[in-house]
Amino acid sequence: MDILVKGGLLADGTQADIAITGDTITEVAPGISAEAGEVIDARGKLVTQPFVDAHFHMDATQSYGRPRVNASGTLLEGIALWGELKQQQTREDIIARALDYCRQAVAKGILAIRSHVDVTDESFNTVEALLEVRDRVRGVLDLQLVAFPQDGWFRAPNGEHQVIRALDAGVDVVGGIPHFERTMADGAASVRAACELAAARGLRVDLHCDESDDPLSRHIETLAAETLRCGLQGRVAGSHLTSMHSMDNYYVAKLLPLIAEAQVAAIPNPLINITLQGRMDSYPKRRGQTRVPELCAAGVTVAFGQDCVRDPWYPLGSGDMLDVAHMGLHVGLMTAPDEMRTAFEMVTRTPAEILGLDFGLAKGKRASLVVLDAPDPIEALRLRPARLAVVSNGKVVSRTEPARSDLSVTF
Ligand SMILES: [Zn+2]
Repeated sequence: MDILVKGGLLADGTQADIAITGDTITEVAPGISAEAGEVIDARGKLVTQPFVDAHFHMDATQSYGRPRVNASGTLLEGIALWGELKQQQTREDIIARALDYCRQAVAKGILAIRSHVDVTDESFNTVEALLEVRDRVRGVLDLQLVAFPQDGWFRAPNGEHQVIRALDAGVDVVGGIPHFERTMADGAASVRAACELAAARGLRVDLHCDESDDPLSRHIETLAAETLRCGLQGRVAGSHLTSMHSMDNYYVAKLLPLIAEAQVAAIPNPLINITLQGRMDSYPKRRGQTRVPELCAAGVTVAFGQDCVRDPWYPLGSGDMLDVAHMGLHVGLMTAPDEMRTAFEMVTRTPAEILGLDFGLAKGKRASLVVLDAPDPIEALRLRPARLAVVSNGKVVSRTEPARSDLSVTF
């Protein structure tokens, strides 16, 4: 065996050693004693399957302040600023920022990212840059790209054409932004077009869907219905879904079973939407998060995404999915122990499921895992501790020493 992770605690509290040969987990059991090329001492530490970020924008990351800071803090000013920036940035610029972010993400134990890539820029710099980044990080970090028409499928004159061009170039997933189209009817038509394109090409769908405080933004209903009509069950995700927060309960009671029946996954992005939404409210200000506990109770697969790190929409972010889950459980009032464990799964197990990845701590799975300086998922959420070791496809790709304080006072 090449690597033995010794004495670690799994998320359910059981203790097990993990044996790795090549890029595969060959055994998960207590007391494995065979020789190994490398032993990782994980005694008393949580060993988890990798963090996965189901929603990110790698073409915009680390561009905060360019061309200037988003003064209103709104989604719409962010889109306008990004529109200026994408005229100015070069392909090399995007690649350098993206790779820098990938290094930070891997150090934090993120080993897969679904990144939307804005395809509406005629220069195609964003798509070509992220396709190159996908190749450069392959083998360590799984980068899944979504053809995202930021300026609209129909609202941008070239939107639909550019989505198809990006898919032809090798982008993986069909994207869209129905709430940004000019009319509700155009939004619904864009959802239909995206689902039909995905069905014709055998692809997945992930739409920015109803990222709005308007309770009448109901494109998720169309997305679920089109998923059923096109036979895309299990391959479709609705990102954000913030309008659901403001919808009336009677309508939501009809909507939730439809989403569940269509097996459409939900990807809320708590860090971003708690700051972008509610900007036009006085008091009380609405929370910018969809109905996470209710979606879970209805049987919908839910993953928390990060969305942004230092870009026109969000000034903060550190590539730490535990920060994302920490915010998500606060905004969703998910503080019961089982709910906090669910929040941890929403940045590990469920996003891997949505992306279709073979992650998991079991025999025969890919040898990718993270050792955290905490004993269990709840303590990991509370402390957001050091990622002591990150193993990707059977190789140790990062180690981090915990920060220690040396107090010079006594009590
Ligand atoms: Zn997004």
